[in-house]
Order: sequence, then structure tokens, then C-alpha cells
Amino acid sequence: MSAIEVIEPATERVMAEVPRAGAEEVDAAVARAKAAFPAWRAVAPADRARLLRDLADAIVARLEELATLEARNAGKPIGDARGEIGMVVETFRFYAGAPERLLWQTIPVAGGVDMTFREPLGVVGLIVPWNFPLTIASWKVAPALAAGNCVVLKPAELTPLTALELEKIALEAGLPEGVLNVVAGPGSVCGQRLVEHPDVAKIAFTGSTEVGRGIAAGAAQTIKRVTLELGGKSANVVFADADLEAAAAAAPMAVFGNAGQDCCARSRILVERSAMDGFLAALQPAVEGIAVGDPLEDATQMGPLISAGQRDAVAFYVPDDAPVAIRGSAPDGPGYWFPPTVLAPVSNDDRAAAEEIFGPVACVIPFDSEEDAVRLANETIYGLSGSIWTGDGARALRVARAIDTGVISINSNTSVRVSTPFGGFKQSGVGRELGPDALEHYTDVKNVYYATEGS
Ligand code: NAD
Repeated sequence: MSAIEVIEPATERVMAEVPRAGAEEVDAAVARAKAAFPAWRAVAPADRARLLRDLADAIVARLEELATLEARNAGKPIGDARGEIGMVVETFRFYAGAPERLLWQTIPVAGGVDMTFREPLGVVGLIVPWNFPLTIASWKVAPALAAGNCVVLKPAELTPLTALELEKIALEAGLPEGVLNVVAGPGSVCGQRLVEHPDVAKIAFTGSTEVGRGIAAGAAQTIKRVTLELGGKSANVVFADADLEAAAAAAPMAVFGNAGQDCCARSRILVERSAMDGFLAALQPAVEGIAVGDPLEDATQMGPLISAGQRDAVAFYVPDDAPVAIRGSAPDGPGYWFPPTVLAPVSNDDRAAAEEIFGPVACVIPFDSEEDAVRLANETIYGLSGSIWTGDGARALRVARAIDTGVISINSNTSVRVSTPFGGFKQSGVGRELGPDALEHYTDVKNVYYATEGS
């Protein structure tokens, strides 16, 4: 097996080498998962719950180590990385409550008793991206295991380290051999093999819309269940009646958090025209003040991009004649740095406003009325996230209902909570993660009829 050289994006140095899995390793992992499934699904609900809680505790014991690994490998600020690993713990704890609460139904019918059961699917293939490596993995692994499935997890080739650690920690915490398997290798080989594999019942994928499209088509060959969490180009809608200082203070990290490599990035800032000058004036110091630098420094708010290729892809959207209104700082020297950049004013049709850049570039787009704001927010193939800033509660709810998006916040930047559903409308995806909803995507419903009055 050849090796994956894992690069630290802040230094461009190799930080680790791990074996590069191929199709054979995927087949072996699926076989292990398939062999482990009958015993795992039969574990008593209370015992499966306890094992998931033990796994959460084992992650807590190694939180600092995992956060440092994630910060170095993904180039994210250490404070953010600690928060993300904290969310991994919360996710395992939340779904540890599920095995004993996967309630069934009895439905009144004539002549007998009718019951429904939520059955695990079997072996599930989980394919995750590099931007929130362990966090997004946990959103899939935790509900999948809680529902009684066995897992083959494929991390992104750029960021395999924390997933490989999770596999070890799970064994140490007492999960049976074969229940959680990790294969680190290229998407076009390992991911594709999982999608094609006849013994994989479901693919849960987070990544780009382009790859997601191919996965949906590939999974159709074996009628696999599929959930897709894909790209976004979310709107941050700022009305003139908003607390403009608060909106301008919050807007930068809604785009530049994780160096803009966030599917929920509110990368289109729609501002009511009459508030434009005031908003930009307040935005400028907030963007220029972002601390860009060493991910391992506590004060750092934004790190480098994941790779040289990603930096080139982002730079494409900021040519020399781009309408750069505000530009933050970025260190010199090694590392895949790109400064926080605000383009203003931009039209919703401009390429930078229409395509997912997945980097620290925000487009400020003026609008003239509530109707206009909703139209612009919806003029995109995506529908993942978004925010509305206004002092008018009725308008906030009207606009929240009118924007075609899976998740939206009012006077806030937040998108994701462990206990609430997360996912996209339109080409941002299919299905939901987190909250109670995710469990439905890792089970099938079985109906059983027991005749009590003849047959
Ligand atoms: P990507 O689509 O390139 O890769 C995602 C994963 O798919 C990786 O593990 C990759 O190896 C694998 N893969 C690639 N080709 C494959 C194939 N042919 N078959 C099977 N698997 C394959 O995405 P990325 O560059 O890692 O991540 C960035 C994208 O992810 C952005 O578009 C972003 O919006 C999206 N994303 C979405 C969410 C969400 O929850 N909606 C969250 C994070 C990231």
C-alpha cells in the first residue's frame, strides 16, 4: 500500500504519513462491518447507549490531542478546533440517548395487531470532506451506530488523521471489532467503491454538489439509500431597520470562519441600499481586525486555506480588476494564506456571487425592498443556510419562511446545533443530519401484522 503524505497547511510541511487505502481495503472493511452487524444490531439498547457514552468519555479524555491534530491538519484556529471536538462529544452523547428511544408504533387495524419497527440498514458508507473532518464524521457515525448499523467511514484524503484516531478510540472504549471501520484513500477509488459496493446499504455523503451528483447516480445502480449534504451560497440579509453595528460585527466570521471553507458561509451579504454606506463603514474595521495567522495561537481567528489548489481556486474569483472594498491581513511566508476579502458592490449574477468559492471572499449586494431581498436570496441553485438581520419580528419570520433554505437564523450567525435538524434545500442536498431527524435516515420501517382473529 502506498502512503498518503498529510500536509500541515500553515507550514506546507508533511506532518504524517498514513497508508493509502484502495478498493481492496474498502472491500475488506465492508466485509468486517458485514460480519459484525448481526451481533451489533442484537446488542441490548441500554448497552449500545452505554458504549456510545463510553466513546464520548474517551474522546473527552483526548480532547486536547484531537483538537491539536485537527488544528494542524485542517489549518483551523485551535479555539475553533476545541469547539468542534466538543461538538463531537455532544453528538455522541445526544445519540447515546437514541437506542432506548427508537419507539415503534402500533396502528389500529381490523382482525389483528399491526406493529412498525425501525430496523437498522446494515453496513453504511460515510464519506466526509476536509473542512470539519471529525465533526462532520460524528454527525453520521453517531446516529448510524445508535440505530444499530455498522460503519465504513472514508475521510478526505487531505485530513484523515482524526478519523483514524476515532477508529482506535472506539475499540479502546469497548466497541466490538468491525463496528466502526475507517478507510483513508482517494474519493475516486475508495469513495466510489463504497458507492458501488453491493453490501453497502446506504451512503451518507458530505461534500461538493458536483461529487454529490455522481454519488446519487452511482448509488442508483444498487438502489442504496442516500443522504447528501452539499454546497451552499447562503445569504446574510441585512435590513436598514437592523442593529447595523451588531450585523456588521457578526457578518465577517459568518463568511471568514474556517477561512470561508464552510458550507454554511453567508458569502452573499444582501444589504438594503439605504443602509449600504453605514454597513460598509462598520464592516471595515471588523474585517481588518480579524487575526489571521498560526492556527495553534489562541488569539488566531482565521488560519490558512487547506491547500495550494484551494488557494488558487479562491484567487480565481478575485482578479486584479475585482471590486475589492475591504481586504484584511494575511501572513507572508509558507502556508496557504488568503486575506479576508470583501467585494462591493456586486451583482447577484456576477460569478463570485453565483458560485460557491469556499474561501474567505464575501460579496456585498444591494437590495431595494423586502420582496427584492427574498428574490435575490432565492436566485441560486443552493439552499443551505442564511441569516436575517432586522428589528421587525414579523418581517423576520415572513422572510425566513420565504427564503428557500434548510436552515436560517434571525439576528444570529448560527447554523448548527446537535439537537436540531440540519440540511439543504435544492442542490444543497437531500435528507437531514443532527437532531432526531437523522435517525430516520439510518433505519428502514418494517410493518408486522399479527392476526388475532383467524388469518
Ligand atoms: P469533495 O466533494 O471534493 O469531497 C468530499 C468527499 O468525497 C471526500 O472524502 C472525497 O475523497 C470524496 N470523493 C471525491 N470524489 C468521489 C467520488 N467520485 N466518489 C465517492 N467519493 C468521492 O468536497 P471537499 O472539497 O472535500 O469539501 C468541500 C465541499 O463540501 C464544498 O462544496 C462544501 O460546501 C461541501 N460541504 C457541505 C457540507 C454540508 O453539510 N452541506 C458541509 C461541509 C462541506
